[in-house]
Amino acid sequence: MNDLFVHLRRSMVNDQIRSRGITDERVLLAMEEVERHLFVPHDLEREAYHDSPLPIGHGQTISQPYIVAEMTALLRLRPGDSVLEVGTGSGYQAALLAIISGRVISIERIPEVARRAEENLRRAGVEGVRIFVSDGTAGYPEAAPYDAILVTAAAPSVPTPLFSQLADGGRLVAPVGDRNIQHLVRITRQGDEFLQECFEPVRFVPLIGEYGWQE
Ligand code: SAM
Repeated sequence: MNDLFVHLRRSMVNDQIRSRGITDERVLLAMEEVERHLFVPHDLEREAYHDSPLPIGHGQTISQPYIVAEMTALLRLRPGDSVLEVGTGSGYQAALLAIISGRVISIERIPEVARRAEENLRRAGVEGVRIFVSDGTAGYPEAAPYDAILVTAAAPSVPTPLFSQLADGGRLVAPVGDRNIQHLVRITRQGDEFLQECFEPVRFVPLIGEYGWQE
């Protein structure tokens, strides 16, 4: 069974990620390493490497592998970067961030989802992720500034508190738009300036909170 998952993981990286133009070797290696099937409900294990998002309970999802890869690559991570993720979900994205950068704080608003993510990360043997249950639209100022911030739920606009939690030179990536369709946006901080770039259309579950959508 394990051999089957190793094979499926390699195919996922080659056929869905590399072939669509993601060249960041750190991202590709991390995706070959992390056992994505340990981050989905048991009955969906065999679908974990499909080219699609999957339900993880509580109306939430683990994102499509390619979108996870693209968002991670857009962050331009370096080893040692401190990273904030808003929207822990299954913990899969946090696992990749931790393998590449080493230090991740991830915020999840649903306690049961956060608990399951902690369990998933433990089973996958991934260290370096600290998960907190709160409204991630306020960020996590206690550990700021961050070299990279990743929002993995759909925001009406980039939550204001996150700007000041970004280090000089830091990058923030988020899906921004309405509840049906968003675009990936990257903000790069240069001193007091925030450069904004827009990338492809995506569809995420909503970011619910003070600086996001109302429940
Ligand atoms: N990154 C996740 C993964 O690897 O599985 C996928 C995230 S899922 C698409 C979005 C997650 O954001 C959900 O678990 C949802 O509960 C969470 N979320 C939504 N609003 C939030 C908020 N204000 N603060 C923290 N988490 C939030």
